[in-house]
Amino acid sequence: MLFTTKWLSAVFGGHQGQTKDSITINEVTTDSRLKSNKSLFIPLVGENFDGHHYLKQAYDNGAIATLWNKQKDLPSFLPANFPVFYVENTLDALQKLASAYRQEINPTVVGITGSNGKTTTKDIVASVLKKAYKTHYTKGNFNNHIGLPLTILSMERHTEILVLEMGMNHKGEIEKLTKIANPDYAIITNIGESHIEFLGSRKAIANAKLEIVQGMGEKSSLIIDGDEELLASIKPKTNVITCGFHHSNNVVINDTEIFHQETRFHLSDGEWWTIPLLGKHNALNATYAITLGKLLGMNETVISEALQTLERTSMRFEMLEGNNGVSIINDAYNASPTSMKAAIEVMKQIEGFKEKVLILGDILELGDYSKEMHESVAKVITYPVTALFTFGKESKYISDQIQKENQRMTCMHFDSKEKLFVKLRGYLRKDALLLFKASRGMQLESLVEAIQKKS
Ligand code: ATP
Ligand code: MG
Repeated sequence: MLFTTKWLSAVFGGHQGQTKDSITINEVTTDSRLKSNKSLFIPLVGENFDGHHYLKQAYDNGAIATLWNKQKDLPSFLPANFPVFYVENTLDALQKLASAYRQEINPTVVGITGSNGKTTTKDIVASVLKKAYKTHYTKGNFNNHIGLPLTILSMERHTEILVLEMGMNHKGEIEKLTKIANPDYAIITNIGESHIEFLGSRKAIANAKLEIVQGMGEKSSLIIDGDEELLASIKPKTNVITCGFHHSNNVVINDTEIFHQETRFHLSDGEWWTIPLLGKHNALNATYAITLGKLLGMNETVISEALQTLERTSMRFEMLEGNNGVSIINDAYNASPTSMKAAIEVMKQIEGFKEKVLILGDILELGDYSKEMHESVAKVITYPVTALFTFGKESKYISDQIQKENQRMTCMHFDSKEKLFVKLRGYLRKDALLLFKASRGMQLESLVEAIQKKS
């Protein structure tokens, strides 16, 4: 059970309908189409839909109580004893309910934000903490003003640790999420350029991430990317622990080794750690999890075991084998300038290949910054990269820049995937490593699939 209608009455100040006995609610649902088990239905209102029109469907699918906008009429089919909680606004009410439930269960809450690496870090943190605590965490990418409260409202009552991913596009969004979640620990994975079109500058992006402290108490701890000056220079009321590659950090990654299937890294605490993920940025993401695990009293052996058995989420820096034994890194899930540069740096670090080929598509949603940001990616495209193929519209800025710099590498731009595919055929060989990276909207994964197909 989640809670009772009696408890809900206390949160919302009474309700209409059944009053005598308190009813047990097992889950919260906003999607009337899904079967539910004794749920509280929360009808949300969007641009193109109004959940209030679907109470009958929710009822038929298992809803036993509902929130309801005061201004709207209740449908007539409803039995007189059906509990209805009237509110001004159902979205605000969802958030208020999540906040009340968080206080009621009172687990240790970990909030994770940053421009890149939130989901990866959240998955690593959850895998580690799960070994020692009853841990509930954000599924997939459910990290916004609706996903976060719903994540809170799906935690079981015996939850000891709640790990929440917090995403944002605009100023003020993290403030809202952190005030609902009140994290005891928070991680800011990095500051990049994502959503710069809405925020204006990297400093503004950093400040927007730092809103996370507004929901945190003085005894709480903030773990940050200490190599990022915009973060390292701040002095919030919380404890701050810096992680990074620079020796001035509290936790220093002082050596990394990147192999085909795993990354090993050495921390200033004297230990070597191994993760089945590639790249320095993932060593950093894992370092956040190690630091947090230790703060929560976990021992190193347990943390180390958890890290070695991490599950890789599909399409996030997967190493695959393609036709003729070619090695493929599929990072086509998402891209920002920072993550594209990070991915290229990783592929440069991997040893044992004669040909290193980049297949890059557009990074979307960069607005006026698009040209500048795409050109900035070109800076990291140096030896041992041997070929660059770009696809789309915006990514042409990358190949143009490389051609301008007169680098000695094969460099071509394509406006069709078919033509690009034909070109790639020449690179399907054992000593070649291909990296695919673009915004999700470019659907580069279809090329990966084509190359994987045995012909
Ligand atoms: P979203 O905003 O879509 O929720 P996210 O912050 O959850 O993104 P992930 O999905 O974990 O990020 O990773 C996206 C990409 O970011 C990865 O494929 C990787 O290339 C890059 N990345 C991961 N961690 C870092 C990091 N610490 N610094 C820079 N880039 C990173
Ligand atoms: Mg995410």
